[in-house]
Amino acid sequence: MVMEPVKGGTLAKLPEQANSLFQSFYPAPAPSPASLAIRYAASLPEVEIVLSGMSSLEQLDDNTSYMQEFKPLTEAERNLVDEITSILNQTIKVPCTSCRYCLEECPISVNIPDYFGLLNLHAVTGQKTNMYYQRFSMNHARASECLKCGKCEHICPQHIPIRSFLEEFAALYETPAA
Ligand code: SF4
Ligand code: SF4
Repeated sequence: MVMEPVKGGTLAKLPEQANSLFQSFYPAPAPSPASLAIRYAASLPEVEIVLSGMSSLEQLDDNTSYMQEFKPLTEAERNLVDEITSILNQTIKVPCTSCRYCLEECPISVNIPDYFGLLNLHAVTGQKTNMYYQRFSMNHARASECLKCGKCEHICPQHIPIRSFLEEFAALYETPAA
């Protein structure tokens, strides 16, 4: 059984380079990027059920359009998935989907997903936005206050080494500029 085949919506909107590859692979009109993610999961021989979160009628229509008469991925599509995966791995530093499950476990409410959003932004653009950190930490513990208890990592569906990324984030955002 696969949950979150679109990684909390992350795979529905591909970065530019991956999206160009995706669009040029299919004759127009190209299917949705989400369809490739869902069909990839559903094509795996061990998988019996794919649970895809949908938040609009448009997404429901999209999902049913290719799942009603399901066709597994072709070999060329599997190669496309590999190419897109390698692009995504180069551009996304922390594969956090903002599901916020970790926040329910954290005893001091470290705002993990929003801090990781800032870490990803910095990785892609080199930008640091202290104003956002102030806002995101307003009703939450700061990254450096993490107790290292690991409760968040037990629940994270993406198996992210949260404590280590929080340390990196704290070094970036909480170390005074020289
Ligand atoms: S390791 Fe840190 S962020 Fe994770 S649950 Fe514990 S205190 Fe919260
Ligand atoms: S760190 Fe993991 S559990 Fe927390 S929001 Fe991101 S993906 Fe979800």
